[in-house]
Amino acid sequence: MKRIGVLTSGGDAPGMNAAIRAVVRKAIFHDMEVYGVNYGFQGLINGDIKKMELGSVGDIIQRGGTMLYSARCEEFKTEEGQQKGIESLKKFGIEGLVVIGGDGSFMGAKKLTEKGYPCIGVPGTIDNDIPGTDFTIGFDTALNTISEAIDKIRDTATSHERTYIIEVMGRDAGDLALWAGLADGAESVLIPEAEDTIEDVVDRLRRGHERGKRHSIIIVAEGVGSGVDFAREVEKRADLETRVTVLGHTQRGGSPSASDRVLGSRLGASAVDLLLSGSAGRMVGIEKNEIVNHDILEVLEQKHTIDLDMYRLSKELSI
Ligand code: ATP
Repeated sequence: MKRIGVLTSGGDAPGMNAAIRAVVRKAIFHDMEVYGVNYGFQGLINGDIKKMELGSVGDIIQRGGTMLYSARCEEFKTEEGQQKGIESLKKFGIEGLVVIGGDGSFMGAKKLTEKGYPCIGVPGTIDNDIPGTDFTIGFDTALNTISEAIDKIRDTATSHERTYIIEVMGRDAGDLALWAGLADGAESVLIPEAEDTIEDVVDRLRRGHERGKRHSIIIVAEGVGSGVDFAREVEKRADLETRVTVLGHTQRGGSPSASDRVLGSRLGASAVDLLLSGSAGRMVGIEKNEIVNHDILEVLEQKHTIDLDMYRLSKELSI
């Protein structure tokens, strides 16, 4: 393989730039040419493709977002859209593609692989919702962003003796909420993977209040529902003053943590190695700090799970 491409697709995540940099530099290290595709599969359809040099990825490792931009592209889900993408690959002589994104993006990668264009998926999403890897690129940074925000909220919660409900991202996965709950000592964590009744949450709040706690932090994963609705329910039952903070897209931005930069670099480089070795339709990941790879189809068929021991621990530590 002499010429490969790289794109980012779906939601952006801090650390994607480190992965792009690793793909470009590792490919050049192996005497290959690399082309960057702007705006994900939309850019592939449009032929929005440029040659990348060593310097193209200079000064990006510390930046959030993705220097190749990202997009959602409905057209690529169709046969015609995929055919247009293949025409672009042919036009630029690109023989293999690294796709950095979430599970939707991996579907696109799978389709191209089936049509004879080997793709390797690199998991980049703050949600940490992809099976076959312990961590996705962006998760650690988002977690740290949440932690910083909650530290600040805790100061004002203590001053005013209030209950704060913080809604965090994660789509259908509770990882961000669960890890943030442990990192920030939340009283309760509500995640889609575990049932927690409102009575239980209110009991905890009351117990804390009775023993003189001046503040309470409840973290609600977006997959459970709206933090605002939940707060209304708590106020109704507990007669406590609540405030809601929806952290929203601040969680997707910011300079990537050292961990995400290292993860992005390791996974990006490993994707190039796989293409060079003739692999196709695989996703790279990290398990027990080892770089691994799995068949994309198997990854897509699995269901993401959380560490229930961690959930139990978060409950034990917030009695
Ligand atoms: P995130 O989880 O961060 O949103 P994602 O990769 O799951 O990332 P999606 O919007 O689901 O985000 O998918 C990104 C893009 O991948 C889509 O806009 C589309 O271009 C392509 N894609 C998704 N599903 C398919 C499919 N079935 N066939 C071909 N391409 C697809």
